[in-house]
Amino acid sequence: MNPCRLSRARKLGGRVMRSTHFTVVLAIFGSAWILASCATKGSTAAAPPMPARITVLYDAFGKDATMTKDWGYAALVEINGKRILFDTGDDPAILAKNVKAKGVDLTRLDFVVLSHRHSDHIGGFSFLLSLNPQVRIYAPKENFGVFGSDLPSKFYRKDESLPPEMRYYGGAPPEIMKFGTAFPGASIQLIDKTTEVVPGVTLIALVSDAPGTKELKELSLAINTPDGIVLVVACSHPGVEAIVAEAVKINPHIHLIAGGFHLLVAQDPAIEKVAAALHDNYKVDYIAAGHCTGEPTFAALQKVFGDRYLYAGLGTTLDVGANPRAESDRNAANVLEEGDLLGYRTLLAKSDDLKDGGAEAARLAQIR
Ligand SMILES: [Zn+2]
Ligand SMILES: [Zn+2]
Repeated sequence: MNPCRLSRARKLGGRVMRSTHFTVVLAIFGSAWILASCATKGSTAAAPPMPARITVLYDAFGKDATMTKDWGYAALVEINGKRILFDTGDDPAILAKNVKAKGVDLTRLDFVVLSHRHSDHIGGFSFLLSLNPQVRIYAPKENFGVFGSDLPSKFYRKDESLPPEMRYYGGAPPEIMKFGTAFPGASIQLIDKTTEVVPGVTLIALVSDAPGTKELKELSLAINTPDGIVLVVACSHPGVEAIVAEAVKINPHIHLIAGGFHLLVAQDPAIEKVAAALHDNYKVDYIAAGHCTGEPTFAALQKVFGDRYLYAGLGTTLDVGANPRAESDRNAANVLEEGDLLGYRTLLAKSDDLKDGGAEAARLAQIR
């Protein structure tokens, strides 16, 4: 029986049980306890809902003077009661400064996602590990690479006519060959294919086919919320459309996409095609583009999405509930200011992302 109903039954019952003083005292105390517990339950129900927000901790554009702009990406994602660090930026000292500026506690995390092996996403990792050495980390499983891996030893051809000293492992290899990681001591769990790591939280695993990043595996974070999917992408090397195509298999309603779309050197027709696909085909509610999305793409997406384009520069906290908005930048109508543009371009010029972009530009030039 519901304890609140039970308390009413006891009060009625109390009238008949007046024969002993003890019973009356028991009834009064019992009722008081149950009523108190009902009141407590009421106040729990009225408690504010869990935050649904994304805080940008690392990027090359932004307005928060207490933070340092640098090429790379990191964001704290707090949704569905989980606290997830998505990437760590390029430099541990800059990550440390930006995390402090936003008052973010990196010792309280459910897990970390390292989206892909590029240094502008994993370079800040040592700072995280110094604070939180035990934290669970998800990273893409590649055949070889910085996150470590393993392969069945049957992958290589054997030649039994050779003497043992000319054979790998003297001719008796382990069944599984393990390869080291650039992050010794970290508790890394490798993700091979799209996986729901906790209920409602899926890591989309796709492989890039673009020149310059061929075979690079990248993880994107898809969180299924009551408002639709909140999708956080790092660099979108496999293509942002390909990532969204995976996300709609979980829930066809895409609520918001945050992160880098990697359209730095793409030409206008290609940019417009992506913007139209996201807006018209996938009917994405909100866009919060950052990092390697590219300046003309910021402009194109803002044009297509209008007030559903959310400014997401460094230091922005995006409320990603039913009516998303950029909490720290309520008045930010513009995407990038002049000084900001200059900084973004300078940092981009030094980054690996431009090298990939260079290859992409060369390919585009060849196609023409
Ligand atoms: Zn990047
Ligand atoms: Zn990248």
